[in-house]
Amino acid sequence: MSKTYLIVAEHRDGKLRRVALEALRAAADCADAGDEIHAALLGEGLDGLAAELATYPLAQVHAIEGEALRVYNPEAYIRALIPLLESLQPDGLFLGHTAIGRDLAPALAARLSAGQISDVTAIERDGGNTVFVRPLYAGKAIERRAFSAFPRVVTVRPNNLPAAEPCADGGTADVVKRAAAPETDLRTVVREVVRKTAGKIDLTEAKIVVAGGRGVKSAEGFKPLEELAGLLGGAVGASRGACDAGYCDYGLQIGQTGKVVTPEIYIACGISGAIQHLAGMSGSRIIVAINKDPEASIFGIADYGIVGDLFEVVPLLTQAFREA
Ligand code: FAD
Repeated sequence: MSKTYLIVAEHRDGKLRRVALEALRAAADCADAGDEIHAALLGEGLDGLAAELATYPLAQVHAIEGEALRVYNPEAYIRALIPLLESLQPDGLFLGHTAIGRDLAPALAARLSAGQISDVTAIERDGGNTVFVRPLYAGKAIERRAFSAFPRVVTVRPNNLPAAEPCADGGTADVVKRAAAPETDLRTVVREVVRKTAGKIDLTEAKIVVAGGRGVKSAEGFKPLEELAGLLGGAVGASRGACDAGYCDYGLQIGQTGKVVTPEIYIACGISGAIQHLAGMSGSRIIVAINKDPEASIFGIADYGIVGDLFEVVPLLTQAFREA
């Protein structure tokens, strides 16, 4: 029997997040001929985004609009999604393993009485079986897990699966507009998004990350890293050591208790390479480490290591890239 899959497509600042297209790719990888994939968009003023999403291989785009959905609010999002879940009865739900996806997925899984596999980095098809690959124990082990029943909920780690491509023929998905029920809560929700990295590239989606550790020594010490990241079109991250020392905001923290990043290039500056830090960046494609201690454990996982003072090496790298 054919299946119906639903992705919850995240967007930010009027743009689809790349992870939404990675979730779509995950759904497509699980789908067989005859299966349908739908997308849910939640927010306000979704016409442009819905039209863009309709160019992808989807059966329908459900644009659910309402004042209550202007910024993420779990109760409002769940309430808005329930009628869609009831009408679609999806066999699978796909979301990004982002702050929103991590919050929403288990609540929706409970609603659907579905099993959930989180933080998926690859999907393998083995005959009729679909196997979901996910890192465990801070990346020290890889688990291959399959569902034994439907419905199923999957969250995908950003930057691991290839993003879905728009249809060559421009797409044939219908856009279905739905209105979210008005807010009835007596609670006051502070409707303000405080973005510490306003206007900059999202750390979890950046292709290049330049991260600083305690070796950066001060907030001022992050300036050369910001310059290098800016030049390369990347984002700045940090170790917990740097955050704890007050050199930067905890929003930049990468690691077991911070963000997980998987960029094409990760440049670690003055970071020793503690296991809890590696948990957040060891999936990066190329790791470059700059550390003045040749014994620093970060060199153990680095593809390229530069033993030296970051305050000399980083400006030299910036200069070299500028001249290239
Ligand atoms: P340090 O270990 O102090 O290393 C600083 C490095 O800078 C050294 O290697 C030094 O040689 C080098 N250096 C100094 N000066 C220079 C210079 N001028 N040029 C070049 N190199 C220089 N950590 C995380 O990062 N993320 C997490 O999510 C996280 N979660 C944790 C959760 C738990 C439960 C626990 C217990 C710990 C966690 N930690 C986490 C902390 C982790 O164990 C380390 O303490 C932390 O990562 C160390 O940060 P660091 O490498 O910046 O500092």
